[in-house]
Amino acid sequence: MKILFVASEAAPFVKTGGLGDVIGALPRALAARGHDILVVLPKYGQIDAQAHGLRDTGRRVEVQFPNLNAGAHVHVHVPAERLRYIFLANPWYDRKELYGEGGKDYRDNHKRFALLCAGSLEAARQQNFQPDAIHAHDWQTALVPLIVKRGWSGRPSPLRARCLFTIHNMAYQGIFPREAMADLALPGDLFNPDALEFYGNLNLMKAGLVFADKLTTVSPTYAKEIVASPETGAGLEGLLRHRAADLTGIMNGVDYERWSPEKDPIIEQRYSASNLAGKSICKAALQRELGLAVDSEAMVCAAIGRLVHQKGYDLLAQAVPEMMKRKVQLALLGTGDAALETEFSALAEAYPGRVSVQLRFDDKLAHRIEAGADVFLMPSRFEPCGLNQLYSLKYGTLPLVHAVGGLNDSIKEGEVGWGFRFTDETPESFLEALHRALALFADGARWQDAMRRAMARDHSWDRAAGQYESLYKG
Ligand code: ADP
Repeated sequence: MKILFVASEAAPFVKTGGLGDVIGALPRALAARGHDILVVLPKYGQIDAQAHGLRDTGRRVEVQFPNLNAGAHVHVHVPAERLRYIFLANPWYDRKELYGEGGKDYRDNHKRFALLCAGSLEAARQQNFQPDAIHAHDWQTALVPLIVKRGWSGRPSPLRARCLFTIHNMAYQGIFPREAMADLALPGDLFNPDALEFYGNLNLMKAGLVFADKLTTVSPTYAKEIVASPETGAGLEGLLRHRAADLTGIMNGVDYERWSPEKDPIIEQRYSASNLAGKSICKAALQRELGLAVDSEAMVCAAIGRLVHQKGYDLLAQAVPEMMKRKVQLALLGTGDAALETEFSALAEAYPGRVSVQLRFDDKLAHRIEAGADVFLMPSRFEPCGLNQLYSLKYGTLPLVHAVGGLNDSIKEGEVGWGFRFTDETPESFLEALHRALALFADGARWQDAMRRAMARDHSWDRAAGQYESLYKG
C-alpha cells in the first residue's frame, strides 16, 4: 500500500516528545513490511538540514489563505527504499521552539499547521504519490481528514484516500478563538458542536475526530479512559463515545535500533540479559556524571520527561524527603513548569550527592540514565502510552508506574512481574510501591530475575505496524 503520513515532528530530525519517537519509527516499520511511505513534516529552523541530508527540490507548494498566499519550499530526504520524507519550508517554522515559548503557544499556530495540512496533500500530489491511506497525528494535522472530505479554500482536495487520525494526547487539542475560522476560510457551517466548535472556540482536534474514517490512540487502556472519563477525555469524551466503534487502542512500539543496551553507542558499557555486568558499570558512570555518591548499594531512581501536571512529578517532589530516609538516590532530567523546576532544584541542593536534577533536554543523557538507573519512576496522572517505561524494560531498569493508560498495559507487578504499580495518585501510594521495590532490590538474585523478565518484553514496532495495516485497508 501507499501511505501518506502527516505529522508535526519526527525523530531524529526534530522531537519534543513521544509523538516524535512514533513518527521516527512507525513509517520505517511499515516500509520494512513492504509499503511505500511518504512522511510530510514542517522544516523547522531547528532541523540540521545538512547533517540529515535534506535536499531542496527547488519546487514549491502554494496554499491559499484569505488575503494571503502561503507557500512552502519542498525539501526531501530518502533514508531507505520505500521511505521518503518531505519537509515544507516557510519562515513560519523558523522559530525558537516548535509550538510556543514561555508556556504560551504561538498565536498563529492554526495558520502554521493549516499550511502543513493543506501543503502536505499538495506536495504528495506534486510527487505523484497517490496514497491508499492517509495517517494524520494530533491536532496539528487534524485538518487533513477535513480537507480530504471537504476540500480547502473552496477547492476540492488534491488527493482522496481513507483517513486515519491518531490521538497521541487528548490534553492538547489546538483550541483557537472563533476568528481563526475566518483566518483559515473554514466554512461557517462547521462552526457547530457536532463539528469544530468547542464552547465558543475553534477546536482543531475535532476536525480529525469528526472527519477521519478511523480513529486510534496509543494504548488500549487510554482508548477506554478517554471515552469513559471527562478528565482524561478532556471534554471530548461525548464525541469519542459517539465514534467508539471506529476507535482502536494500539500500543506504541520501541525503536530498538536506538533503544537497547546491546547496541547503544551512547552508554558507558554495553550489556545484555545474558551479561548484566555492564549495567553496574553504567550505574557507577551515571553516578559520577551526575555528582551522586558512587555506591552500588543505593537504589538509583530516575525520571525523564516534561515537567507538567500530567506527569505527576509534583507528587514525586512531595515524596522525596521520605525517599531520602532510605538508601535511595534520585536522578531527574526534564524541563517545563517553572514552579516544578524550582522545587526540584531546591531538592537537589537539600540532598547533595543523593538528588541530581538536570533541567534541560538531553537525549544522550536520557540513554545513560536508562542504562545506569535501577528503577524508572512514572507517577503520571494520565499517560496515553508512555515510552520511557518501555525503554526502561529493555535496559533492565524496572519501571515504577501509576497504573493508567499505557503504563497499565505494559507494566505488571508480582512474582513473575517486571515492575511496580500503584493505583492511588498519592505520595503514600507511590511510596508503598517504592518500598516494595526496595524490598526486592535487597534480594539481588530475585531482582536480577525481574530485570531479565523486563528485558525479555517485546515492544517492537512490527506488531503495531501490523495492526495499523489492517486499519489502512479498512
Ligand atoms: P510525552 O510524549 O508525553 O512527552 P512519552 O513518554 O511518550 O511522553 O515520550 C517522551 C519522550 O521524550 C521520550 O523519548 C523521552 O525520553 C523524551 N524526553 C522527554 N523529556 C526529555 C528530556 N528533558 N531530555 C531528553 N529526553 C526527553
